[in-house]
Amino acid sequence: MRKTFINTEISYIYPMSTWILQPTTQKIIESIVSNNEISEKSIKKSIKVKENEIRKILYKLEELGIVAPIGAFTLKEGKLDFKWKVKITDIKKVYEIIINKEIAEIDTELENMPDTIYYCLECGISYDTDSAYENNFQCKECGSILVEKENYKKLQLKELKEKLIDILNSIKKPEKTREKIKTTK
Ligand SMILES: [Zn+2]
Repeated sequence: MRKTFINTEISYIYPMSTWILQPTTQKIIESIVSNNEISEKSIKKSIKVKENEIRKILYKLEELGIVAPIGAFTLKEGKLDFKWKVKITDIKKVYEIIINKEIAEIDTELENMPDTIYYCLECGISYDTDSAYENNFQCKECGSILVEKENYKKLQLKELKEKLIDILNSIKKPEKTREKIKTTK
């Protein structure tokens, strides 16, 4: 695999991994940042990613103020292509913006996530505190008594946040001292 700006291995490890750590996202970002203006078809040509995926990422980047749509234009064959202005061409800055936004979103999610959940050992179904309480702490499916356990999703999300902070810190470092982010499988 081609080396990307960010070590992407972690996207395969964390099931809750964010869009920014997906190799496709990184390919798209890296193909646009060196230009002031890009067209969707030209991105597609250079990195061989489906157009709808490209547009999905461009919309996200637009929300973050990194790109802005210029408009549609017709190609010789009568097909439409779409042009985008690249407002931020410094890749470090682009990633800083995206990762900071991701961390802020994770923080909000963590705030609203309970530390523990209720779980049926028979069916493997999880309940939040409210629904466990409503059902007298019994499983709706089989009637087993629910057990309280740590919310694994919350732990994963916290771990993901730590990884994003690591990536952010490594981006901020000067090129030479940038370390590879260690990952384990
Ligand atoms: Zn059950």
